[in-house]
Amino acid sequence: MKVSEIVKDFKPYKVLEGNYRIWLDKNENPFDIPTEIKEEIFEELKNISFNRYPHITADPLRERIAEFLGFEKENVIVGNGSDELISLLLKLFEGDHIVISSPTFGMYSFFAKFEGIDLVDVPLDGRFKLQNVEDYAENARAIFICSPNNPTGNTQEREKIISVLETGAPVVLDEAYIEFAESSNVDLVSEYDNLIVLRTFSKAFGLAGIRVGYAVASKEIIDYLNRIKPPFALNSLSMRIAELMLDHYDLVKQNINYIIKERERIYKEFKDYAYPSEANFLLMRLNAYEFLLERGIVVRNFGGRLDGHIRVTIGKKEENDELIKALKEFLEKEY
Ligand SMILES: *Cc1c(COP(=O)(O)O)cnc(C)c1O
Repeated sequence: MKVSEIVKDFKPYKVLEGNYRIWLDKNENPFDIPTEIKEEIFEELKNISFNRYPHITADPLRERIAEFLGFEKENVIVGNGSDELISLLLKLFEGDHIVISSPTFGMYSFFAKFEGIDLVDVPLDGRFKLQNVEDYAENARAIFICSPNNPTGNTQEREKIISVLETGAPVVLDEAYIEFAESSNVDLVSEYDNLIVLRTFSKAFGLAGIRVGYAVASKEIIDYLNRIKPPFALNSLSMRIAELMLDHYDLVKQNINYIIKERERIYKEFKDYAYPSEANFLLMRLNAYEFLLERGIVVRNFGGRLDGHIRVTIGKKEENDELIKALKEFLEKEY
């Protein structure tokens, strides 16, 4: 038996052991679905035949998402998390490299490495804006733009996104956090058939554990994606739950407004250290990872260019109060 060298290069997932009280490390929604709605969902799930495979092209959920966005079902594909769609998108197009702009979401390079695809990194500038990615569009399998960007929280200008689209290269626009931002660029799908917009139910919709993501693109791209997707990757239960949450968008919207308000409250407290954000987290120039961990608060830390920074997910008010208190203590001690 010989395990491939590519696989050996991957590190095992680490689970943080310990008695932590507050989890602000994964950009999860702090609110679970309320019990009444969960019960309503469980009632609905009773009608699902567990012995049958899920709908092979997930049409009921695709129709519901299309209706929600004002597109057609043929413009939408759903996946087992948007992570699954990223891996499919890397297989779809010809080309010898992908373009990313670091610091950004790790799954683009994760899957590229797995597929043996060359990675061209055109780092974001000092204000975390895109640089000359257009120069690397020739023969690119895909150019990844994450907006709002994880972990920096900022969005990219619409004009810049259009300029990248004008190269004609496939552009994957990751809008995982778009519900917390001012505006989306999903409408550009009608104009540019080289644009794929990725969305997810994991963040604003509070369904990270359910694993549903989707992509919006031209009918041609979605058709090809549907041909290569594993037929039954997304299970019947998760699909139905995502559909039902779209019926409860008023509740989702309430939570989004709460999180944005809390984000701005924390930002104002740490203006000198935090970067403006249009997502459900804040990046801060504070080397406080260990300090917070000792106080039972888990956030994200980084290496490389973001060494000494933390990314804090916006939690419930009480959690944010504790975070603010701990960070103020940190500042008094360290600065
Ligand atoms: C969380 C996140 C996703 C969503 O991943 P899922 O697989 O749908 O849970 C996608 N892109 C970015 C940038 C993210 O931060």
